[in-house]
Amino acid sequence: MTSAAIMDGKAKAAELAEIITADAAALLRSHGMRPGLAVVIVGEDPASQVYVRNKKRTAENCGFHSVQHTLAANTSQQRLLRLIQDLNGDPAIHGILVQLPLPKHLDELAVTQAIAPEKDVDGFHFQNIGKLTSGHTADTFVPCTPAGCMLLIADQLGSDLSGLDAVIIGRSNIVGKPMASLLLQANATVTICHSRTRNLPGITRRADILVAAIGRPNMVQGDWIKPGAVVVDVGINRIDVEVDGETKSRLTGDVDFSSAVHVAKAITPVPGGVGPMTIMMLMSNTLTSARLAASRS
Ligand code: NAD
Repeated sequence: MTSAAIMDGKAKAAELAEIITADAAALLRSHGMRPGLAVVIVGEDPASQVYVRNKKRTAENCGFHSVQHTLAANTSQQRLLRLIQDLNGDPAIHGILVQLPLPKHLDELAVTQAIAPEKDVDGFHFQNIGKLTSGHTADTFVPCTPAGCMLLIADQLGSDLSGLDAVIIGRSNIVGKPMASLLLQANATVTICHSRTRNLPGITRRADILVAAIGRPNMVQGDWIKPGAVVVDVGINRIDVEVDGETKSRLTGDVDFSSAVHVAKAITPVPGGVGPMTIMMLMSNTLTSARLAASRS
């Protein structure tokens, strides 16, 4: 039985980390400037805490100035906005990331839009979204997960996807929609599917490139996939599995890896696929922001 190539996001992210670390050191030598990343977390969601810890550690490993602001779950909107204003004005900070989701009483939209566009390394500000959708990707911050997916896809298919059908499952602002913009810009023919789409497997079977960003464990089966497709599994789902009579928790994607691996040409694993690339794209955006700040000063 044939088996797909595994798109190793962890290894690729490690390669990128070396380049980013060297570039950060060069910026320090040339301009005395260290890329600065501020990560803000509100509340105690355990998954968010893990993500924030990883981001902080990776930034430090790349030689960045890295700060974390941990605010209580009952923090007011006003207090959070004041912190963002302070970070907007702090010359040592080039990237600001507010870990989502926020507690229910906070207005996520107001918070993401309060971040200065030139420090919006998550790419969620309307100004950056507008530039992305109008094809001006050279001077905008592209959301980190789709940016990472595009690099993995380019490794398999090159950067010009002319003539290829791309199908994305999921229409979120964080993954599905920006992913569609990037694939379109790379000349793919793009279809976005979502929870109201009829006959999903009929659509996914046409895809040369299939991106799953749903949040439903193992939903995409091997027989939903066109033989030879490149499959990018964005999903991160925690499930319980029985191991030797014990219940253990483990991460799984939106694609049923065990059946998909025999149909696809290449596939990302979960964990170790898109996740590490997302963090590295955050570092890349922060470095870009610092370089732009250096060229302005
Ligand atoms: P979301 O909940 O905002 O969006 C999910 C999308 O899936 C929606 O557009 C919805 O219409 C669609 N959907 C839901 N059920 C469906 C169904 N039965 N059929 C077809 N479409 C369906 O989620 P999100 O923020 O886009 O994240 C999606 C997944 O990716 C989650 O598992 C999340 O944890 C993961 N994620 C991973 C990374 C990473 O770095 N690897 C980053 C962001 C999100």
